[in-house]
Amino acid sequence: EEPYLEVSDLHVQFPTADGLVRAVQGLSYSLPLGRTLAIVGESGSGKSVSSMAVLGLHDAKTARISGSIKVGGREITGLSERALESYRGVDAAMIFQDPQSSLHPYFTVGDQIMEAYRTHRRVSKRAAKARAVEMLDRVGIPNPRRRVDNYPHEFSGGMRQRAMIAMALVNDPKLLIADEPTTALDVTVQAQILDLITDLQRDFGSAVVFITHDLGVVAEIADDILVMYAGSAIEQGPVEKVLGTPLHPYSWGLLESVPALTGEPAPLHPIPGTPPSLLAVPSGCAFHPRCEFRDRVPQDRCRTLKPDLLARTADPGHTSRCHLHEPDQVFQTDISPRLP
Ligand code: SF4
Ligand code: MG
Repeated sequence: EEPYLEVSDLHVQFPTADGLVRAVQGLSYSLPLGRTLAIVGESGSGKSVSSMAVLGLHDAKTARISGSIKVGGREITGLSERALESYRGVDAAMIFQDPQSSLHPYFTVGDQIMEAYRTHRRVSKRAAKARAVEMLDRVGIPNPRRRVDNYPHEFSGGMRQRAMIAMALVNDPKLLIADEPTTALDVTVQAQILDLITDLQRDFGSAVVFITHDLGVVAEIADDILVMYAGSAIEQGPVEKVLGTPLHPYSWGLLESVPALTGEPAPLHPIPGTPPSLLAVPSGCAFHPRCEFRDRVPQDRCRTLKPDLLARTADPGHTSRCHLHEPDQVFQTDISPRLP
């Protein structure tokens, strides 16, 4: 299938007074329309930074971006701010954890949705308002004709989240990026919002990148998973493969506490140690200071050589970045999350 979003060898760096922050280091993935990719990792793994780059949200004065980001065949890196604004309004949209960050308290919900619509097309106020009502209805806001004139503070947290989704989707973007959109909500509302995103994706046929640290959410909505650690992808593949037979020791740790794909919220398993600072990413495999398997690999390779992202022999679509899976390693064919 033709990818709609294609990220190739993406690097994002921020020069700071303390040194160079290497937030994303050589990330590649592709995503066709109609599919959901979950990007999973601890905070500081590069999952949000990489997705902001896809939307062209980094200031060229503060971020160094290299590599390629193609959306619908168009290269996004290097576009002017003006071109990016129209790209973000029409082709791609983002929903955030905190609706406050995109809903302004002083304007009605309807005015804000109308504004998002009218910025990118010539339509009358009346037509834009009808569209706002339609979108509020579409995301499940009751009495949308009345609610369209409410201010954000008159909405509950879950309704604000729905309104933000309505605003993000008002121009039918083909690419939707959702950054922890349900983290701040209670479990019931969270489940409703996930259902909503799944429904909307089916109806609009969009490509969705879903950023989360919640593996219950991943099991529920993703087709594919990309696990990030210290700015790199360390495991990638279809959701049932990565959750069912994870390959990377970091993923083994993460998945230990997932309650059998029930869709219940699952906290990440606390792996001993902390993720590295992106100012000083460890040599070799960035996970080596926390990895209990590093001494199983000969010649100190874990400390000295960054592993490549390799496909599993039996499963070309499932890759991991670990020396244990290299051709000369005993684990290559016998990959098990339950090693002693
Ligand atoms: Fe552990 Fe070495 Fe694999 Fe890194 S490459 S995850 S340190 S075994
Ligand atoms: Mg984040």
